Amino acid sequence: MSPKRRGLMAAALGACLALVLPLHTGSAQSSTTKSPERTLFEVTAGSPEARTRVARTGVDVLGQEGDTLTVVAEARQQWALRATGLPVKNLGDYDAQLRSLGKADFTDPQVGTQDFPSGYTGYHNFQEMVTELNQTVTDHPNLVRLSTIGKSYQGRELWTLKISDNPGVDEAEPEVLFTCNMHAREHLTVEMCLRIIKQYTDGYATNPTIKNLVDTREIWIVPMVNPDGVEYDIATGSFRSWRKNRQPNSTSTGTDPNRNFGYQWGCCGGSSSSGSSETYRGPSAFSAPEVARIRDFVNGRVVGGVQQIKTHIDFHTYSELILWPYGYTYNDTAPGLDSTQASAFSTLGRRMAALNGYTPQQSSDLYITDGTINDWLWGVHKIWSYTFEMYPTGSGGGGFYPRDTVIATQTARNDSAVELFLSYSDCVPRIISRTC
Ligand SMILES: [Zn+2]
Repeated sequence: MSPKRRGLMAAALGACLALVLPLHTGSAQSSTTKSPERTLFEVTAGSPEARTRVARTGVDVLGQEGDTLTVVAEARQQWALRATGLPVKNLGDYDAQLRSLGKADFTDPQVGTQDFPSGYTGYHNFQEMVTELNQTVTDHPNLVRLSTIGKSYQGRELWTLKISDNPGVDEAEPEVLFTCNMHAREHLTVEMCLRIIKQYTDGYATNPTIKNLVDTREIWIVPMVNPDGVEYDIATGSFRSWRKNRQPNSTSTGTDPNRNFGYQWGCCGGSSSSGSSETYRGPSAFSAPEVARIRDFVNGRVVGGVQQIKTHIDFHTYSELILWPYGYTYNDTAPGLDSTQASAFSTLGRRMAALNGYTPQQSSDLYITDGTINDWLWGVHKIWSYTFEMYPTGSGGGGFYPRDTVIATQTARNDSAVELFLSYSDCVPRIISRTC
C-alpha cells in the first residue's frame, strides 16, 4: 500500500466521515488508520451499457477483454460493484501484486535516483526520454525539430518533436499528431512514440515509403503528455498504478487528462465529478495544464482559418483496441459526425486493425466516456482522431506492466498500421473513395 493511497483514502474517508461511520457501526475493521486495500476484480459485462454501469460505480477500469472487464476497487467501492448485479470474480490484493513486480534499488549507482524496477529498465523515464529526443536531434538535424508546447503542472516540459523534410519550415503539407502517455502508468505508450520517431528518422535514408511519408507530411509527436504522473508512478521504486496528472483538487490529487477536454465535457456520465476518482474530469474543461497545452498547440495549428492537423492517434494501454469517436454517445452518428464520416472512421480503423490484430470499434462500444481528446479533436477541429489501446489484451499479459522484453515486438507490431494511417492522412475519406 503506497503512502499516496493512504493519504488519498484518509482524505476521502474524512470528507464523508459523517456519512460513513453510522453505516459501519459495529464493523471492527472500519478505521481511518488501517490501510484500505485495492482489490483486483474481473467483471462479466457483455454490453456497452453494462460496462458503462461498471465504470460509473467509480472503480478503476483497467482493461476489457471480450465480455470481461478488469477493474480495481477500493474497499468502499466494492458494494457498488456488487450492486451492479454482474458476475464478479475476486483476483486478490492489487497492491501486493504491484509490489511483487519488483522494486528498484535507488542506492545502487547503476539504477539512479528514479527508475524502473529490474525487468523494466528498458522503459524510458522522463529524463531518459529527453536524452533520447536530444540524441535524435543530434543524429537527424535536417529531419527533426524539438520544441516544447509548455509545461506540466509540476513544471516539466511537454516535449514535442516535429519530423519532416525542412522541419524548420511550415510547409503546405498535411500535419499528423501522435500523443503518448497521457495516462501515467501506460508506460508502453512512450515507447510507441519513441518507436515512431526512430522509424521515421533512422528509416528515412533507406526506406522509400518512409522517405515519401516524411517528405509529404509534417509529423508532430508528443511522447509524454503526463510526465508528472509517470515520475510519480515509479517514484518509490515499485509501481503505484497511477493514472492521472499530479494536480491537487479539492479532495485529493489528480485530474484524468482524458476526461478534461472541452467537447461535451462531463455531459454524459462518462467521467466523474469526484476528485478521488481515476476518471475525475476536473472542475472545468482544460483545467489540467497538460490538457490546456495540447489545446493551445492544436488551436495554434489553425493557419489561415484551416486546421493543419488532419489526423491523430492517442496511444494508451491496454486491451488491444482501436477506438474512434464519439465516446460520449452510443449513437454511430451525432451532431458533427454524419454517416459518411462514421464510415470513413470505421473503415480506416478496421484496415489498421487488420494489420496489428487489435479489435476495432467506436469508442462508446467499450463504455461511455466524455471529455476525451478524440471527441474534442473531431468535434471541434474535424481531426480524424483515434485511440490505440496497446498490448496486452488482459491482465494475464501483465496489464499496465508487461516486462521490457515485449517493448520491441509490441511497438513494431504497429509499424504497418501507423504507415497506413500516415498514408491516408492527406484525406481519410479517400479510404471510402470520397474526396476531401
Ligand atoms: Zn489510458
